[in-house]
Amino acid sequence: MATTEQANLTAAQQYVNEVYETVKKRNPGESEFHQAVKEILDSLVPVFAKHPKYQNESILERIVEPERIISFRVPWVDDQGKVQVNRGFRVQFNSAIGPYKGGLRFHPSVNASIIKFLGFEQIFKNSLTGQPIGGGKGGSDFDPKGKSDREVMKFTQSFMTELSKYIGPDTDVPAGDIGVGAREIGYMFGQYKRLVGGNEAGVLTGKGLTYGGSLTRTEATGYGLVYFTQEMLKTKGESFTNKTVVVSGSGNVSIYAIEKAQQLGAKVVACSDSNGYVYDKDGINLDTVKRIKEVERKRISEYVKEHPTAQYVEGCQNIWTIPCDIALPCATQNEINEEAAKTLVANGVKYVAEGANMPSTLEAIEVYLSNDVYFGPAKAANAGGVAVSALEMAQNSARLAWTFEEVDTKLQTIMTNIYNNSVKAAEEYGHTGNLVVGSNIAGFLKVADTMIAHGVV
Ligand code: GLU
Repeated sequence: MATTEQANLTAAQQYVNEVYETVKKRNPGESEFHQAVKEILDSLVPVFAKHPKYQNESILERIVEPERIISFRVPWVDDQGKVQVNRGFRVQFNSAIGPYKGGLRFHPSVNASIIKFLGFEQIFKNSLTGQPIGGGKGGSDFDPKGKSDREVMKFTQSFMTELSKYIGPDTDVPAGDIGVGAREIGYMFGQYKRLVGGNEAGVLTGKGLTYGGSLTRTEATGYGLVYFTQEMLKTKGESFTNKTVVVSGSGNVSIYAIEKAQQLGAKVVACSDSNGYVYDKDGINLDTVKRIKEVERKRISEYVKEHPTAQYVEGCQNIWTIPCDIALPCATQNEINEEAAKTLVANGVKYVAEGANMPSTLEAIEVYLSNDVYFGPAKAANAGGVAVSALEMAQNSARLAWTFEEVDTKLQTIMTNIYNNSVKAAEEYGHTGNLVVGSNIAGFLKVADTMIAHGVV
């Protein structure tokens, strides 16, 4: 490497470190947010080394600061008549390339750090989709687990009563995430409609098919993850056929990842929920999982009652001790730590692609990269969900509905483009085969160039 090139890289690394230190100081104790920022900033070093304009325009300093954070009280009355109070959030992180777009998460772990990490990731993920959507995220520490239908409705109505002041089809378009599915979106849409007095279909995505939802949106994140992984496999001259796959989680992302992987000939041997995991050496029976999780809303431990040759293990962490060719973490952030990653490697894993947001710690990612595991990071691999959300917005604006096949074909094209653009960016910036660097750079450049085009705003 030429000396000036090396000097530029060193200077860029120093600049990036300084910005990262400021982020830590400004956002004390927010470890998940720090983690997401660190992963992206380190990837961008070669960009700053090559193009001084981004540093001159303070793009990094601007992009790590959300345009706006809204935090609000959500009071509601439970079935016993007691007043409960939760905290609601919406972070409107970056609107350079389109309206803020990103899901709402209802989970007791939700706090400012989690919402900011998710919102920050969403900026780059949404940019990668090629659709005109900015980055946002929201949610609440409300726990839907064990709540009655009525309680969920009362909570979501109260949540939307406040949130409705800040969203709209051209400003900010929420959708689902952990704990927010078709039922919650339905209640929120109903309340929004009542509050604004009009039928603004494009204000939320992931809607039911009877009121403006898009075919394939339910399947999109899981299917998209598998389409992306299929591209990774193709690069290595392989396919899903006869591969052993472990999928963590059993929510919407996991279910449709399992479905598509099975359709492509893979054997999916495990899935989980927050209590434990199921190992079925004969291959997971997806009909059973769908019924337990989507219809009965029960725990995955029920699975072994119907499939006695399968094993249920309490606790989730050991799911990564099951030998597999392909691991698809689809549960939650930081579910694979360094030790779990080492176990996966020792057991021969060849591919890891992330369906959840940031399911691998920074140390786990290091383990994949240094052991020749081909790694598909979340913001590229799970972008199919939000991509089809953008297609839902397009259909709502045009007041028409595309067929399942039309949307599915567009989704496949989008995932292939994300893969190819990430591969290309990695190559161009000297990190061939590193999709972390590639996807971060490809996602960043479009947003950064647009921010420069818009001036200091
Ligand atoms: N929650 C999903 C994500 O993490 C989808 C968001 C959306 O459709 O707006 O990307």
